[in-house]
Amino acid sequence: MDIKRITHWIDGKPWAGEAARTGDVFDPATGQVAGRVDFAGESEVDEAVSSASRAFGTWRTSSLAARANVLFSFRQLLNSRKRELAEIITAEHGKVLDDAGGEIQRALEAVDFACGIPQLLKGGFSENVSRKVDVYSIRQPLGVVGIISPFNFPAMVPLWFMPNAIACGNAVVLKPSEKDPSASNFVAELWAEAGLPDGVLNVLHGDKVAVDGLLTHPTVRAISFVGSTPIARYVYETGTRHGKRVQALGGAKNHMVVLPDADLDLAADAAVSAGFGSAGERCMAISVVVAVGEAGDELVGKISSRMADLHVGDGRRTGCEMGPLVTAAHRDKVASYVDAGVSAGATLAVDGRGHPIDGDEGGFWLGPTLFDHVQPEMSIYTDEIFGPVLSVVRVPSYEAAVDLVNANPWGNGTAIFTNDGGAARRYQNEIEVGMVGVNVPIPVPVGYYSFGGWKDSLFGDSHAYGPDGIHFFTRGKVVTSRWLDPSHGGVNLGFPRNQ
Ligand code: NAD
Repeated sequence: MDIKRITHWIDGKPWAGEAARTGDVFDPATGQVAGRVDFAGESEVDEAVSSASRAFGTWRTSSLAARANVLFSFRQLLNSRKRELAEIITAEHGKVLDDAGGEIQRALEAVDFACGIPQLLKGGFSENVSRKVDVYSIRQPLGVVGIISPFNFPAMVPLWFMPNAIACGNAVVLKPSEKDPSASNFVAELWAEAGLPDGVLNVLHGDKVAVDGLLTHPTVRAISFVGSTPIARYVYETGTRHGKRVQALGGAKNHMVVLPDADLDLAADAAVSAGFGSAGERCMAISVVVAVGEAGDELVGKISSRMADLHVGDGRRTGCEMGPLVTAAHRDKVASYVDAGVSAGATLAVDGRGHPIDGDEGGFWLGPTLFDHVQPEMSIYTDEIFGPVLSVVRVPSYEAAVDLVNANPWGNGTAIFTNDGGAARRYQNEIEVGMVGVNVPIPVPVGYYSFGGWKDSLFGDSHAYGPDGIHFFTRGKVVTSRWLDPSHGGVNLGFPRNQ
């Protein structure tokens, strides 16, 4: 099998240099090495940032009409080539093709939003705040901005940020995950084809060296990061210490509360879809079902029977619903949590280790696992597993469910399943989580709202994409202007007062 080289995209073309370090990229459904990705060192970071910095000088002066044209062209290209991109995602991430298509569809929403940039960048204007004095507010781009993304959405997460950053007039250096880097290069080619000038978007591959290079580079003005909580915290602290604006989205442990009056078939379908879609490698995956009162037994039965029917296998094969995990190391780590849950005394209701697999035996497989009677001190509850392991915690009351969720350090997403509108309304008010679903298990906001968690799921003030994205990628400026006429009042050392 040919091993392809994946290199940086700098100044509108593939990088021509020789990398001092590289990393293997696997096909998770076969376990074979499919590619070798270049890892950037300090000089490549400099090259990419310099390219972005040069491009920023002219891109920031381009008209809103010209920028909107590029965005509309990019939107058209991304939509027409989404099948190719989905195949690239599946080949390196492992998620099934249909799911990869869903990721691109959600990315398109963020592009749609940014197409409205002329409207989004409208400022305010107040005429005659004082005699002959007008005041107006404008928003201006920051300069060179860095985007650092995780493996689990190799197209969508970079595209949460790129459209707004570019539309606002910034130049971007993207550092995607080294585990599935090819999607970013494909997307960069589409931007170039859409007419984005060279250097406005650069892709830098690599690991901590590249990340640290961006976090400390004096020319980089802002960082948008998505990944695990420890790295998000590190990125936030390091980036802000170096004077940058940072938004760092971290990990999650998302609870789905099921009240006894809920439609338990709907809840079971939702728990299985949101727990095992993309093999649980989603930051909005449901990893804990909180069964309230007598809901528990029937709910666990319904979830277990649905899990038995899940078709696990190569995401390129028709009918497969859940693919492999991204790497062998990650599969082994997730499997070790199944052992840990058993040792801790949780009830292993469904053991994913024996699930039938429709794929090559070398793939990084692990079937769906369900634990019942999980206690909050067990590691399967306290840790983000990021794999196909679902825990059921039983609680006696609605209040106990709220206490459990609010005591958890993460606050990305949550859902409540109930037919009681009053309980749902109370939940959305009382729960300390950034995104809430009512009878919706994965409440990822549409592109014209913004995405972000609370507590250890987000460091910084701005959420991703939507209105927060425009705010994050611009700086506000207020202009107070007076055009002289014969009535000007001469020297006055007092503090300006409006009258
Ligand atoms: P990760 O934290 O390992 O990696 C994220 C990025 O950081 C990658 O580009 C990686 O190269 C880089 N990185 C890794 N280690 C680093 C280090 N020591 N120093 C500097 N940079 C480093 O995350 P992952 O495994 O790629 O992705 C899964 C995680 O991302 C999960 O925790 C998941 O919940 C989270 N996630 C969160 C969201 C969200 O919106 N909150 C969305 C998607 C994924």
